[in-house]
This record gives sequence, structure tokens and C-alpha cells, in this order.
Amino acid sequence: MNSQSGHNFLCYIIDFSHRAHVWSPANLPFLRPYFPLAHEPLMRSASIFLPPIHSLRSNPFPISQVIEHFGHSITYLIRCFVDAAIMSNCEERSLLVIVAHPDDECIGAGGTIRRHVEQGVYVDVFSLTGNETRNEELQAACAGLGVRNLYLSERDDFAVDMSLIHEVIGAILKSRPIAIITHSQQDYNRNHTSCAQMVEQAVEWASHVTLFDNAHRVERIYNMEINTLLAKPNVFVDITDQYKFALAALKKHKSQVSKVDNFYLKLYDARTKLRGVQAACKRAEAFSITLPEHAGPFYPENNVESLV
Ligand SMILES: [Zn+2]
Repeated sequence: MNSQSGHNFLCYIIDFSHRAHVWSPANLPFLRPYFPLAHEPLMRSASIFLPPIHSLRSNPFPISQVIEHFGHSITYLIRCFVDAAIMSNCEERSLLVIVAHPDDECIGAGGTIRRHVEQGVYVDVFSLTGNETRNEELQAACAGLGVRNLYLSERDDFAVDMSLIHEVIGAILKSRPIAIITHSQQDYNRNHTSCAQMVEQAVEWASHVTLFDNAHRVERIYNMEINTLLAKPNVFVDITDQYKFALAALKKHKSQVSKVDNFYLKLYDARTKLRGVQAACKRAEAFSITLPEHAGPFYPENNVESLV
């Protein structure tokens, strides 16, 4: 079943079911191969995305075959396929991780990347600097985390400044993420703070329909921590089950992790435990949230009916 026939089939079902459905995560596993974009959190608010019934076309796809194939009741199927149909009308859930150096993606968000990949979220990584050795390590680390697209650079560490903003905008327009993970502006490392500033500005520019035909609006920026701990993290991601994968990925950065008596391995171990204590789990990664300004005058999304 390709996505097009899948979508038509969904319309056929919806003709019978109208909007009635109750989401349950248990519905999804056997549908994932057909609808990789169907995910739980967006489902919870999914009914708002359902197109009007009159706009849907029926389809000759034989429902009896589907029931036979899946062995489920029709009510169950209707519920599943309505959920999946809703998601087929949504943009892909994706994250873009933008870092100053190879290894930052692991130290700051390795477990978070892996956890989202396991949830079916597409994760891309863009490193502003790199060289042959470090890029090889980055490729190996990102393969272990399940990263989809990796954007590499051969740029030197000391060449990170605002002149790179067009590359950051280009990565955003290509990956089209719902949210970005990057550094914090409170970080002590100047490359990290430059990267964070650039991302914030690039998010605004990338969303301007007056500048780009393919403009894209990023909804949130998550700021991660490397050496500098965030004073006021807004969210914690429980990475208890992903820690071993994240640690294995971090170890792929061989040229870095052996420095100063395995400093980064010790740091990642201690920091994820500390954040785990705060988040009431074994291990966690912490983030603060930056909401993009989206201050242009051309956003229909900024038109609200009420402020309360
Ligand atoms: Zn770094």
C-alpha cells in the first residue's frame, strides 16, 4: 500500500465513521508501516485536523480484504484509520539539532535524539564545524542515534560567527523541523553562544514568506546544556532507556572523549543522573525553551481570538 492509496482508503472509511473516534496508543503498532507519520501526542488533539466529510472522496479499496488481513473489528479499524488519516494531513514530526561542534549533539541531547527516533520522529543534525576525523566520528555517532540527515562542515572551530546564518537558514528550510534543539546563550563556550544566537535569528528569517517561497515556521527552540548547566530548565526528557545508546554514540567521538581523563564521559554520566533526580527518573536531559518571536506581519497563525 503506498501513501496515496492509503490516503484514499482512509477517506473511504471516514465516510462511514464521521468524526467518532477515541485515540488509544494500542491502535497504532500494526499501522506504522503504512502510516509512519501517525504518532500519539499529535493524535490527542487530532480531531481539529480532520477535513470536512464532504471534501473526502470514496475509494474502491476493498474493506473486506483489509479486515481479513488485520483480523480486527470494523470499529477498531475505523478508529485506527481515522487517526492515521488525520496524521496524513499533518506535516511530518521532525527535529533539527544544530550544534557548534561534532560531539555536542551527544553530550547535550544524545538520549533525547534517540528517544525521539524511537517514537518515529525524524531527527536531522547540522554541525557548524568539523574536519575529516571529527566528521567520521559524528557520522558514526549519529548512525547509532538513528539520525536521518546529517549536514557536515569542514569549518574550523574559530570560524563560527553570524556570517554562517544563511547556512543555518538553509538547513531549516531543508529539514523543515517543528522544533530545533541547539545550544544555550548562557553557555560559557563562545562558539556555542554564537550558534544559539544564529539559530534564533535564522528561525525568524526562515519563516518570512516575503523572503522565501519555501519559508518554514519553527515553533520552538530547545536549548541544551553541555558543560554549563542551565539555571532554569523548562523541560526534562527521561532518557533512562536510551542512556546506553547515547553513551555508545558519545564514545564514537574517540578524539574527544579520551581528553582530560574521559572528562566528557564522566560529565554526561553525572549530569544525566542529576537531571534524572530532578525529573523523578533515573536519567534525563534538561532543556530550556525559547519561543521564536515570529514578529513578521504576515503570519495568519498570529491571529488569535482571545488572549485568555
Ligand atoms: Zn561544542
